[in-house]
Amino acid sequence: MVQFAVNSEASAIQTKIEDIAQRQRVYFRSGATRSIEFRLEQLKRLRQAVLDREAAIMQAVQADLRKPDFEAFFEMGVVQEIDAAIKNLRRWMKPKSVGTPPEQFPAKAQIVPEPLGVVLIIGPWNYPFQLVISPLVGAIAAGNCALVKPSEVASHTSRVVADLIETTFDPQYIAAIEGGVDVSQAVLNEKFDHIFFTGGTAIGKIVMSAAAKHLTPVTLELGGKSPCIVDTDIDLQTAVKRIVWGKFINAGQTCIAPDYLLVDRRIKPQVIEAITATLRELYGEDPANSPDYGRIISDRHYERLVHLMQGGQAILGGQTNRDDRYIAPTVLDSVNLDSPLMQEEIFGPLLPVIEYGDIQEAIDLILSKPKPLALYLFSRNSQLQQRILQETSSGGVCLNETVMHVGVAQLPFGGVGESGIGKYHGKASFDTFSHYKSVLAKPFWLDLPWRYAPYEGKLEQIKKLLKK
Ligand code: NAD
Repeated sequence: MVQFAVNSEASAIQTKIEDIAQRQRVYFRSGATRSIEFRLEQLKRLRQAVLDREAAIMQAVQADLRKPDFEAFFEMGVVQEIDAAIKNLRRWMKPKSVGTPPEQFPAKAQIVPEPLGVVLIIGPWNYPFQLVISPLVGAIAAGNCALVKPSEVASHTSRVVADLIETTFDPQYIAAIEGGVDVSQAVLNEKFDHIFFTGGTAIGKIVMSAAAKHLTPVTLELGGKSPCIVDTDIDLQTAVKRIVWGKFINAGQTCIAPDYLLVDRRIKPQVIEAITATLRELYGEDPANSPDYGRIISDRHYERLVHLMQGGQAILGGQTNRDDRYIAPTVLDSVNLDSPLMQEEIFGPLLPVIEYGDIQEAIDLILSKPKPLALYLFSRNSQLQQRILQETSSGGVCLNETVMHVGVAQLPFGGVGESGIGKYHGKASFDTFSHYKSVLAKPFWLDLPWRYAPYEGKLEQIKKLLKK
């Protein structure tokens, strides 16, 4: 009986999703979403809807993650993303003329961006508003219909996202569906024209194999272990401040947070001393009482992090409080490279510090792991900078900075290898949700005979022509 109830609920979800996707396909085929006027109007509606809900968005992410106001406000960065799309859309949509070879004369060739159709956006819980709305900006700008599934783990924000979409857009154009794994799986049974997924690598594989059944292209914005190298040639205070900030914002639950430090042995004691002072400066004597330090999203994630802590020796922090899902900013020394701490993405406020004698050791360690989403190098040494850029691969890099590359809309954001497939932000978002159609057009007034049979004598002429 219970089984029957579960099955009938699952089939009701599936039917609902099929219905949404089918209506969106019909709406897309009507051509309504294609004009620049329509796209601009929808971007403006989205902008207003986000601004109208600023307080609700901030409250929701605070309820989900206890983000400080300052960090909760990062979610509103989508407004800049929308403004950039509104400003540049006409240029992005413009077909690009390209040259043609002489044997094609008279011909005109163009690359014409066209929308993909009905796209699916699945989001994570760590920046739970912007990581579904930001790709949605690209989907709208490129002229698509979209179904958005926010993360159920950030349940308050999921509600705000769904409410915003439901009250701003017609569901045949843009719809939201809330729910957990069952809903995600039901959504993935459906055929879409593109799937944009942000989340962990393990689920990314599930998404990609579901997409493969329909040969649906995917963008996978995944995670990984982003290393942070610290050379001796640095401004120590500034370097450490940037590292500590990037690591411990959102209590370390940031996809591009420095995952672990690789520190030149000669400077390690000074680095640890500076981290101690910086943590005190940023979060006071006891970060548990700081209004500026977040909490872990769920009991499950809390338990995972407490377990990961066993991979090293806590020389700073280490305090935990299960009732509050609090984990202090923690620095770990004597790290076991084979432990889960160094095998999994940490995604929490634990910072392993590993020393190296020669930079090659650091490079070897990085290369022994899957390609990360970000890599950070702190060094003034331009030769070392070039060496790291050339000998390692990662989704993005900051030199003498952490995390901030995500805020440069002109830099496409995404992973490489196991940290992801595809890119977005700014024009890259428009590209992700567009197909660049190659169009060749010819008039009738001239039809060069070189390609038609009988071929006799023509091959020689063509060979001569091609040699020129
Ligand atoms: P997750 O992979 O657990 O979940 C992401 C989404 O997948 C959620 O909406 C969830 O409902 C859905 N999902 C979960 N299990 C599923 C299943 N079996 N089948 C289908 N869908 C399923 O990720 P998360 O825990 O929400 O986020 C953390 C991860 O996301 C980290 O690895 C982090 O690095 C990564 N991340 C990447 C970026 C980026 O831009 N590259 C940004 C934020 C987070």
